[in-house]
Parts: sequence; structure tokens; C-alpha cells
Amino acid sequence: MTLLRVVNSQEPQESREGADDWRWQVRHAVTDLAALQAAVSLTENERNGVERALGEGFPMSITPYYLGLVDKSDPNCPIRRQCVPSDAEAIDVIGDMRDPLGEEAHEVAPHLVQRYPDRVLLLATDRCSVYCRFCTRSRMVGAGGGVRSLESLGEAFAWLRAHPEVCDVIVSGGDPLVMSTERIAAILDELSRIESVLYVRIATRTPVTLPQRITSDLCVALRRHPSTWIMTHFNHPKELTEASRAACARLVDAGLPVMNQTVLLRGVNDNANTLEQLFRGLVRSRVRPYYLLQADPVRGTGHLRTSIETGLSLMESLQGRVSGIALPKYIVDTPGGRGKVPVLRDAIVGRDGAITTLRTFRGELVDYIDPPH
Ligand code: SF4
Repeated sequence: MTLLRVVNSQEPQESREGADDWRWQVRHAVTDLAALQAAVSLTENERNGVERALGEGFPMSITPYYLGLVDKSDPNCPIRRQCVPSDAEAIDVIGDMRDPLGEEAHEVAPHLVQRYPDRVLLLATDRCSVYCRFCTRSRMVGAGGGVRSLESLGEAFAWLRAHPEVCDVIVSGGDPLVMSTERIAAILDELSRIESVLYVRIATRTPVTLPQRITSDLCVALRRHPSTWIMTHFNHPKELTEASRAACARLVDAGLPVMNQTVLLRGVNDNANTLEQLFRGLVRSRVRPYYLLQADPVRGTGHLRTSIETGLSLMESLQGRVSGIALPKYIVDTPGGRGKVPVLRDAIVGRDGAITTLRTFRGELVDYIDPPH
């Protein structure tokens, strides 16, 4: 059974009583054109985008909280670009793929994907509180399967028991924290019983789109595996609201390390000032900026992607401008599921025997000399 319910647009939205409760937010998520039009002055492009998205399988859902961050009169609002469908989703550009990370080809058991020798991805649900328009898994999120039952994950757990070389499990989906606390606890209990699973990462956007979900009960449940890490997904400083910063604080105070993966998105965060503000805001919230991800070439996202050159230039201008703890690695996840590659424009400009010439963030060339032994 899924926790997400499609809300009839006729349902009264005026009363915000209960808005602090995550289930209320999920129940009142905007999932149809009429409800969105009532809240946002949509462009023709967006109206067509919503109709097309709802007709073609990659649904729309926006929590009232996240909708509250949208500039209702500016179609270029960075939050709006992330959650309101655009007609440009109909355009396929060269390189676009349905499953850019080759997850289906790397499935080793139902709902379990292995792309690296030591780690796997457990897809525990297909539901999210907000469907991000850049989502790498747009092929399957919200597709109707809902929360995977424990029985249907049984083969995945059995596979893990038979493969002790895998020590790192990323629980993802969909968004696993949109499942009930009981279901999350049950999955973590199963993983805790597999001795070779040393750590578990929960990939979730709820601190960004549904911060009410981070309750103290949930934090207790997340500690049921002795080493649970939270991987979240802030893309713009506007998302670092008081509520989301408080959600991150609850996680960190409960002993859960929180790391952030920002997706580089055109018209959202593709400038150095925005990224600087975001990364500094994350560190201030005790969240480590971990990756800046080059957007995956998912079909229908060409309008949201930048060139790799843009990413390299941005990293170059941030190097030295923010400290190491605020500077994530810039990563390209190679198409076809061949793995992540950290990319940086060459810092080494020459080598001559023991002498390595390096370019600093100020553009100076400086020699480092290796010791004689
Ligand atoms: S929350 Fe994650 S899985 Fe869900 S739509 Fe957004 S990016 Fe995709």
C-alpha cells in the first residue's frame, strides 16, 4: 500500500491546519493541473508540460511546503524549474537516455542494482513527495508499484547475504523516507542482521521538499543500523529554509551524518555565486557538500542540463574561494552505468623528473619537488 494519495483538486486547500505534519503535506500535494493553476500563474509552456507529464507517465507532485518556495509569477524561478513540468520535456536531445546509469542492466536481484564491487542500490519504493523534473529515474518513479513489500525485497536481502564483499547499501527509490517509519525500521533491521553490511546510506530529498518528515521518531528508527548516513539533495540556497535547516539539525543531533549531492542544473544553480551561497549554507547547517553532479542525460532534461565546460569553469572559480569542507567533488556519472568520474581541469601543468608544476587557484605556476628517496 502506498502512503501517497492522489489529491482531488476539488479538495479544499485553504485550511492549513495540520501543515506541520508530513502526512498532511503528502495528502495535500499538488498533483493535477487545476490545483497547480490555482496556485501558480502558469505559462503556456508549463500548462502543456503538466498535461503532457500527467499523460505520459512521469507524474507531478509538489508538496504545499515546496510549492511555498516557488515564485508564483516568475517562470524562471529556480525552485519552479525543478518541480513544474515544462513542454521542453517532450524534446529529445542527442545523448538522452531512458536509463542513463544502466540500472536495469545492472540489476542483480529484484530492486537491487550493483554498479561497483563493494556497494549496491536498494530501490525500496517508487514514490516521492515531489517529482523532480531532472530525476535520473523518471522512467520508474511514480510508475505505480508503490512501496516494495518486505517479501518482494526478500531476494535482494538473500543476495546480500550471499555476497559478503558488498559492505555499503544505498537505500533509494523513489524517496525511501516517504515510506512509513515502521517500514524504514524493518528494512534497516533486515540490513543490520547481515553482518557484512557495514554501512547504509539513505538517499532522500525529504529534508528539501518535506522537512516535516524528519521527526524524532524517524531519527530514532534511522539509528537502527549502527552506521546510517543520510544523503540529501539541496540544489539551491532558497531551499535552505528555517524548516529544512531544522530538519538537518535534527538528523545531525541524532548522530546521523548528512551529506549533500547537488545536481548542476541550467537556470537553477549554474553560477558561482549561487553555488557558493548554497555550499556555505550547507556547511553552516552541518551538512557536508559531497558531490556536485553533472546532470545525467535523462530523456527530456536537455533544457535543464549544462555543458561539462560550465561545470569545470564553476569549479575553477570556487576553488580557493570557499574552503575544502564547503567544496564538493565535481562528478560525471558516466552513461551506461560505467561509474562516477571526478573531473577537474588539469591542476598539473608540467612534470620534469622530481619536479611537478601546479597551477594554483590564482593562476600562479608553482613547483613541488619530490623528496630524493
Ligand atoms: S526525490 Fe529523488 S527519486 Fe524522487 S523524483 Fe526527486 S530525484 Fe527522483
